[in-house]
Amino acid sequence: MRIYCPICSSACHRRSRPFSSAGCRYQLVHCPGCDLMFWTPPSLPTEFSYASLDFGNYDTSHGSGHEELSAHQKGFARNYRGPRGSLLDVGCSDGNFLRWAQSNGFEVYGVDIDSVALQHARRITPRVWLLTLAEFAEWASGQGLRFDVITFFDVLEHQPQPLPFLQSAARLLVPGGWIAGTVPNRRRLLKTGRSAREAFWDFPPHHFLWFNAGALRSALVAGGLNGVEVQCQMYGYATPEMLRLAGNPVKRLALRWAPEAPSAMMPDWLFQALRQAKLAAQVLPQAMEAGLERLVHAGGSLYFQGRNHVD
Ligand SMILES: [Zn+2]
Repeated sequence: MRIYCPICSSACHRRSRPFSSAGCRYQLVHCPGCDLMFWTPPSLPTEFSYASLDFGNYDTSHGSGHEELSAHQKGFARNYRGPRGSLLDVGCSDGNFLRWAQSNGFEVYGVDIDSVALQHARRITPRVWLLTLAEFAEWASGQGLRFDVITFFDVLEHQPQPLPFLQSAARLLVPGGWIAGTVPNRRRLLKTGRSAREAFWDFPPHHFLWFNAGALRSALVAGGLNGVEVQCQMYGYATPEMLRLAGNPVKRLALRWAPEAPSAMMPDWLFQALRQAKLAAQVLPQAMEAGLERLVHAGGSLYFQGRNHVD
């Protein structure tokens, strides 16, 4: 059976890596037209739903209660040059980004399919809904609601049908409005998670699309965006791997031997020295990771932004 690319509709023949999850058998396909790698069939197992996942973990992993922007959201703070206006964050989770956007002058809205995370987000704004983007778009178009900015951080790669998703977002934008967000970079240097056992989050039914910079650019253009910019950025998922490569023995030693507070048994100079060593052991591997990834332009995350056609 022929398989067609969900972005550029090219016929795809190259298949590899059969992978089973929750009774569903997926195959990884590489599109010769736009370089996208995608898992097929583009369907969730019947019993799968995000509401049935252990949201305690999901919530924690997505940084509930963070006061600062997470690493992948910082790209927006660095790169966005449009006006402060209405902003919809798709997959807003606990509202970490909404909090930042609101305090930076945006009128914020959010949707997510994680009811637990939305309870946190409602403390930031009442304008968050337990809906998919398609459901929200239908409701919002009835209300005449449109946005200056729509963001989705680490959401696009989850979409079995990416083009309808992008088109829904584009329809919700004002003319000339902005779309921005991130996806994981499949060409990341430090490939934490070469298998589904190591990184279940990067495999179906979680992630259906594996982007590199070129494939992401093609998808955004196909979704109707102009002036698309894509840049590699450091992510942070790779930190544990880097710790294994470089810093873990140092860190383990430092954490074991560095006390939290000075004691009568320990001279002050030794306490200070151990504390500095502990700090260096924690910071150095992350700095090495960032440096290495930047050096070869193969960071863990791809930041993108682009604009809607001006009517
Ligand atoms: Zn394609």
